[in-house]
Amino acid sequence: CGIVGYVGKQKAASILIEGLKRLEYRGYDSAGLAVLQGSRIDVAKKAGRVDVLAKAAGRHRFTGTTGIGHTRWATHGGVTDANAHPHLSSDGKFALIHNGVIENYAGMKRFLVGKGYAFASETDTEALVNLIAYHYEKEPETDGKSRFLESVRRALMHVEGTYGIAVLCTDCPGEIVAARKASPLVLGVGDQEYILASDVSALVSRTQNVVYLKDGELLHLTPANFSIITQDEEDVSPVVDRITWDI
Ligand code: GLU
Repeated sequence: CGIVGYVGKQKAASILIEGLKRLEYRGYDSAGLAVLQGSRIDVAKKAGRVDVLAKAAGRHRFTGTTGIGHTRWATHGGVTDANAHPHLSSDGKFALIHNGVIENYAGMKRFLVGKGYAFASETDTEALVNLIAYHYEKEPETDGKSRFLESVRRALMHVEGTYGIAVLCTDCPGEIVAARKASPLVLGVGDQEYILASDVSALVSRTQNVVYLKDGELLHLTPANFSIITQDEEDVSPVVDRITWDI
């Protein structure tokens, strides 16, 4: 339902929770966040309101400056803590948040279970995060291209359905890969920071400079830079718009 991502110099968790609060008006049943902390990804996620998540996250030491947050409106799997996003790949290397529906997740899940990937939820989303991990392991040589970006791009080529996604990888501190198909995503370009969201209302308090992603595009955020490519690996020249209205 709602997506927020942060790469910058501030602690990510409180910025993500503020963004999720601004997305509450869209409706949701669960909320969660994942933050890169050194070489691991820590997750807090809860069925219920963002306030419940904020309390759970407060008991946790989130100090990392790269993270993703989600409000879920369940389509596949009940409203439980385990089904809330983010979802981790079974090797713990990737965290994914997802808006939309992966129509062909059942076949994908069967394939991945056959390859030894374990599942901890009933969601369609968890199949995609494990498929990303599968491509990352299977294709380590990426010809000088980002292996992280490539594994997401290759996994998405197998997806039927709709998605707005944001992904973290433990091998890539300070990076987020995001992509969309029939689900909105907008990048806020701030002062030494980037904020990604499914809706500008989640980021206008931090910046008014935004880049709207188009369907079929993938975004790669790093601490110093961002770039956009298409599914077919063509470079996209980003257009930075300025939000001139008040919220
Ligand atoms: N299909 C996913 C789920 O049920 C995502 C739902 C959403 O868009 O929030 O977990």
